[in-house]
Amino acid sequence: MKTWDVVVIGGGPAGLAAAAAARKQGIEDVLILERDQMLGGILNQCIHNGFGLHTFKEELTGPEYADRFIKVVEELKIPYHLNTMVLSISKDKQVTYMNREEGLVTIQAKTVVLAMGCRERSRGALNIPGFRPAGVYSAGTAQRLTNMEGKKVGREVVILGSGDIGLIMARRMTLEGAKVKVVAELMPYSGGLKRNIVQCLNDYGIPLKLSHTVVEIHGKERVTGITLAQVDDHRKPIPGTEEYYSCDTLLLSVGLIPENELTRGLGADVSRVTSGPEVNDHLETSVPGVFACGNVLHVHDLVDYVSEEAAMAGQAAAEYVKELAEREKYAGKTDAETSALGDGEEVPMSEGHQSLVRLSAENGVRYTVPQYLDPKHMKDQIIVRFRVDNVYKNRSISVYYDGVKIQTRKKRVMAPGEMEQVILKKDSFGDYPDLKKITICTEEE
Ligand SMILES: Cc1cc2nc3c(=O)[nH]c(=O)nc-3n(C[C@H](O)[C@H](O)[C@H](O)COP(=O)(O)OP(=O)(O)OC[C@H]3O[C@@H](n4cnc5c(N)ncnc54)[C@H](O)[C@@H]3O)c2cc1C
Repeated sequence: MKTWDVVVIGGGPAGLAAAAAARKQGIEDVLILERDQMLGGILNQCIHNGFGLHTFKEELTGPEYADRFIKVVEELKIPYHLNTMVLSISKDKQVTYMNREEGLVTIQAKTVVLAMGCRERSRGALNIPGFRPAGVYSAGTAQRLTNMEGKKVGREVVILGSGDIGLIMARRMTLEGAKVKVVAELMPYSGGLKRNIVQCLNDYGIPLKLSHTVVEIHGKERVTGITLAQVDDHRKPIPGTEEYYSCDTLLLSVGLIPENELTRGLGADVSRVTSGPEVNDHLETSVPGVFACGNVLHVHDLVDYVSEEAAMAGQAAAEYVKELAEREKYAGKTDAETSALGDGEEVPMSEGHQSLVRLSAENGVRYTVPQYLDPKHMKDQIIVRFRVDNVYKNRSISVYYDGVKIQTRKKRVMAPGEMEQVILKKDSFGDYPDLKKITICTEEE
């Protein structure tokens, strides 16, 4: 069985950045496995601009942004298999995949980087009454049909869900000549970025109805209309608020879920909030040597953060491989032989998350990534990313170490659609050698 140092699963922006970072750390043996027929992931269907503002200080389209990373992977001559579906990963890091040329293959990896992205929540998860007529699509499917396959999806459209894909598709369908009648959102706030509400709805006069949901889909063969109703504080439809909209197409943009089947099959701990694996400050899952990044870890708002995080995962995988090599060098040697050989400080190999400090998300913070931290062996600083659970105005984001406030920062507005972050510095842990808990929370001013 062929052994690879780093096997990256998924050739989207996360997988590309992770593979490039591992190679730049001097790891020769890096392989990318991608189930689609091209690299680039979901970005290939995102032909709107707005990508890369942070990374390149330019407004790129999705394919342009992906192309910059594909070029790096090609310049570094990192091998990749396309049309290759990874079926399973075992705890001892055997990766089984399938493609037409090779059939079913199992390879041994020293480290694995999970970068499988996420998928859209489907109609089945919503239980909307009605028949199952044609014309109900997830927003991402409609995006792929329109942007990659040149199909016209519909003429009169209602969109349920105001996450970024729903907002972007409201504009896209309008540009394709369709009439987007309304975007309905169950929550009292939009799940998308503010800039997308302005640029995709307001600029085109498309109404956004917050605290509304679709209670019935009409039509047997093809959608003929939908009934929309307002919901109360418990998200239950309010009788008497029903409104009928005629339409031939209903797009659902009702949430993204990390592609976590391989993660679960591997036996890694999965967060109940993010549905992605729980990771430490090296983005390592509870299975030592398996790292995760991008939307498979938690759903990101901007791809720039995906690339940045994935580069860290690739670097951490490379360090793991080097540490394994060091250990092999010392294996079976006496202390005297070891000290004659060695120089640098020995970094303990991870053994899961049990002995690490847990980050606790409280009072308005839904989750943090990473969920665990090793203050003794962390980098000089780490970025902790998180989302809040509601729209908050004039609150602070605070960090506590075992109940002692360490830092606080005022924020005028925070919304679930936008990721937030705090930076934790290694030297801030000096006075807390027996630290048990790091709390990240919002606080009233
Ligand atoms: C509609 C839409 C609009 C967006 N707009 C913006 C925007 O304007 N600006 C911005 O910055 N960001 C935007 N984003 C977000 C950005 O595109 C994502 O954050 C980014 O693409 C996530 O990268 P990823 O590599 O984690 O996932 P993906 O791009 O989804 O890549 C994952 C890859 O893994 C592969 N894969 C999955 N499972 C397997 C398997 N078992 N075997 C082999 N391969 C597998 C998939 O085929 C895929 O290629 C948008 C996203 C969407 C969906």
